[in-house]
Amino acid sequence: MNIIDGKYVSNIIKEELSERIIIENINPGLGIILVGNRPDSKIYVNMKKKSCSKIGIKNFDVTLPENVSEEDVINEVEKMNNNNEIHGILIQLPLPKHINEQNVLSKVLLEKDVDGFHVQNIGNLALNRLNNCFAPCTPTGCIELLKRYNIQIEGKNVVILGRSNIVGMPLSFLFLHNNATVTICHSKTKNLKEVTQRADILVAACGRPNLITKDYIKNECVIIDVGINKIQCDNEKGYQIVGDVNFKDVIDKVKMITPVPGGVGPMTIAMLLTHTVEACSKINNKNN
Ligand code: NAD
Repeated sequence: MNIIDGKYVSNIIKEELSERIIIENINPGLGIILVGNRPDSKIYVNMKKKSCSKIGIKNFDVTLPENVSEEDVINEVEKMNNNNEIHGILIQLPLPKHINEQNVLSKVLLEKDVDGFHVQNIGNLALNRLNNCFAPCTPTGCIELLKRYNIQIEGKNVVILGRSNIVGMPLSFLFLHNNATVTICHSKTKNLKEVTQRADILVAACGRPNLITKDYIKNECVIIDVGINKIQCDNEKGYQIVGDVNFKDVIDKVKMITPVPGGVGPMTIAMLLTHTVEACSKINNKNN
């Protein structure tokens, strides 16, 4: 089978974390701040809370109204910074437009920044000082998947579609630090197909449903599809979730590929849990 099964790998990681929590006798806690009523954000937060509970991470979640002030969100972050039972802090993005996300993210204590979005931690990532910080969860999940499937990264031509601060940009650093030759494409890239056809590993993270078809790739390419796109269809729900890659069209040409859903999505949560357990372990070791 040429499927990279993120759901399967994420379940193994969760089992490993449950064991680690017991062996190290630690009590990790995750603080979650949700602002407003976005249905997708609520779903993501609920999934994260459920996964935490399953493996023995305590949730401390706060929901704030859409019209909350930036100052009040920062107050909640500071309360979580000072709470010894909380080892990781997650601010569900996006925040409402009147709040400056960077102002809020940069108030999270560095050692509790399990999402890796603090400006200083992005700097640490760029400088490959990963001992002192967490890289963002979705990019870390992509690399972890490749490693767990023994897919070589060093020396490979990696093409990433998307340059966002959450996925494309941090992922490019992780691939660089793993000795890949990295090309980043974005909405202004010319002759996209010519670039993607050179990829040994292609990561699609541009939010364009089914953009990548078999004529965009070379034979035996490995594809990591990060995209999560809701498209209308005539099933019961009236919609379907698809990636940025046309799975059916490419499946016979690729060496390996992540499905959507069941690929990168579950790995994002598994990495958040890993970072929270890691943060708790580090804080405990420091205090012992
Ligand atoms: P974004 O909208 O912030 O960034 C999209 C990027 O894609 C931009 O850099 C843009 O320049 C680039 N782009 C747009 N059109 C392009 C094109 N035709 N060719 C090449 N590049 C193009 O999005 P994001 O937050 O980085 O998310 C990207 C996708 O990944 C979305 O579908 C999102 O839902 C999904 N996502 C999934 C997870 C997960 O856990 N699986 C996590 C985060 C984001």
